[in-house]
Amino acid sequence: MKTIGMIGGMSWESTVSYYQTINQSINKSQGGHHSAKLVLVSVDFAEIEKYQASNEWDKAAGVLIQAAQALEKAGADFFVICTNTMHKVATVVQAEVNIPLLHIADATGQNLKLRGIKKVGLLGTAFTMEQEFYKGYLEREFGIEVIVPNGVQRRLIHDVIYNELCMGRVSRRSKSDYISIIEDLHAEGAEGVILGCTEIGLLVKAEDTDILLFDTTKIHVEHTVSHALSS
Ligand code: GLU
Repeated sequence: MKTIGMIGGMSWESTVSYYQTINQSINKSQGGHHSAKLVLVSVDFAEIEKYQASNEWDKAAGVLIQAAQALEKAGADFFVICTNTMHKVATVVQAEVNIPLLHIADATGQNLKLRGIKKVGLLGTAFTMEQEFYKGYLEREFGIEVIVPNGVQRRLIHDVIYNELCMGRVSRRSKSDYISIIEDLHAEGAEGVILGCTEIGLLVKAEDTDILLFDTTKIHVEHTVSHALSS
């Protein structure tokens, strides 16, 4: 089994899901007392959030580079960044270490492709929904058309992520707001909707709607586990 390196803490609420699901999944596959071989570096999200808001992505990248180098030194065979948004600096971080990054949009794109999805909706932070690093990646690498909610809806989604989900708050009202936005994207022709923020799965679950959801935390974890168990 390979040793997984995780850069977490963005936010720690979703890192808990990663840690728990990776271990459950390794145990399910290997049985007995098996659990994941794993190194975790968990950053201070306040620092990251400040750099995001002030558009200082090079400084945010610096924090992740240090974390990735620490994982490499600690013996990780490969690493994952447990957030969609910070994949904006994925290439810069990857360039500073010798262990491979398992990119969250690669995992997601492969999953969409496997299901034959051609047009998909995307929910995430404003950075993820509005900039090219994520949407563009899916369009370029996988030929999938990505649509996003309107401006007012994007603001609501973003604010719920930072002011509620990243602070451990799950509200019924936000859940129904999210579901109605998911329904709008479906009405616009999206065959499914990507939960493109690692905390959204804490709020909206597959059983809450008939519309096909792609939870990036679950998908990223599945890819991480199968890579860890591959020879
Ligand atoms: N975890 C979130 C994501 O997947 C948002 C927090 C962050 O900005 O990293 O994008």
